Amino acid sequence: MTAPAAGGPPAGAGPTDTDWAAAVAAVRGLPATARVLLICHVNPDGDALGSMLGFGLGLRRLGVRQLQATFPGPPEVPEPFRWLPGSDLLVPQDDAYPDPDLVICFDAASESRLGDLVDRLDKAGTALVLDHHASNTGFGGIHLVDPHAAATSVVALGLLDRLGVTLDAEIAACLYVALSTDTGSFRFEATTPAVHELAARLLATGISPGEISRRIFDTRPFGAVRLFGEVVGRARLEPAAAAGHGLVWTYATREDLARHHQPAYVLEALIDSVRCTAEADVSCVVKQSGDAEWAVSLRSKGAVDVSRVAMALGGGGHRFAAGFTGWGTVDEVVERIRTELPGALLPT
Ligand code: 5GP
Ligand code: MN
Repeated sequence: MTAPAAGGPPAGAGPTDTDWAAAVAAVRGLPATARVLLICHVNPDGDALGSMLGFGLGLRRLGVRQLQATFPGPPEVPEPFRWLPGSDLLVPQDDAYPDPDLVICFDAASESRLGDLVDRLDKAGTALVLDHHASNTGFGGIHLVDPHAAATSVVALGLLDRLGVTLDAEIAACLYVALSTDTGSFRFEATTPAVHELAARLLATGISPGEISRRIFDTRPFGAVRLFGEVVGRARLEPAAAAGHGLVWTYATREDLARHHQPAYVLEALIDSVRCTAEADVSCVVKQSGDAEWAVSLRSKGAVDVSRVAMALGGGGHRFAAGFTGWGTVDEVVERIRTELPGALLPT
């Protein structure tokens, strides 16, 4: 467990009654003319988009009229999430209110995950942060950060409930996408009885789990299927890494994407095709994001705290799912990971 940042939430503790009350007051106290901006982390995933748009729909039901949602970088939403209810709230980051009365940030562990939108935190009247990363740095004004929550959407629903918003099928679809994404379709350790109870509440609104899962997990262009074949085919297994717990890794370049005419987001699912390797506790995918810049995904089956590896290399995340941005060549990036692994072993 890392030490909390100065002024940040104590590591491991969830929001206090005071935190919840402050967040409720920040929303309830908004004047009718207030401009509210919702933001989430770069390369938004199902939890970032789902918790942000689901909460946005809740704010709309409460009568908030000047409401925008955005994320850093190119405004294209990954195809699997384009159908999400509330997508009409999305604007490109350059069109987002420059000085909103309230900014609400979803699923971002640190300001570095907010790209050019980080200035909105300073310019906003109030900055409210909803998150579930233990590595959250404590940025923003009001913190609803619960490291025990399986997804940021759990925190979002906690706030919607306290605001008296009635759950409907549109809000539920967004929150279900978020919850099923971050629990790996209810497979990861974070899948507690409370998670299933929450899922039951969402499903009771009439949403279709089969249809949602097919859209977000089980649909990809044929070009991506071929690209995965190639990239998985070059995976390396290093049984001696991580003090013998094993490392499996692969990489994908922008040239790989171009050859198969695929957008970058298709690579987000690649880690799932690698981390099934029985002989490795740790899995890693290195995805080119610039000339010598790589977005790195790390996963562990339980022997290694990969958030420690990611944090040592400038990133963050959770114990068993983390990431960072690496610079240099693929081999240099992987060598840095190899070096950090022995120091990140969890007690057996
Ligand atoms: P993924 O591998 O799916 O992109 O990310 C796994 C986890 O690591 C997520 O919780 C994500 O928020 C976190 N993560 C991924 N990349 C970064 C990064 O560059 N910086 C930080 N702080 N966290 C990251
Ligand atoms: Mn999340």
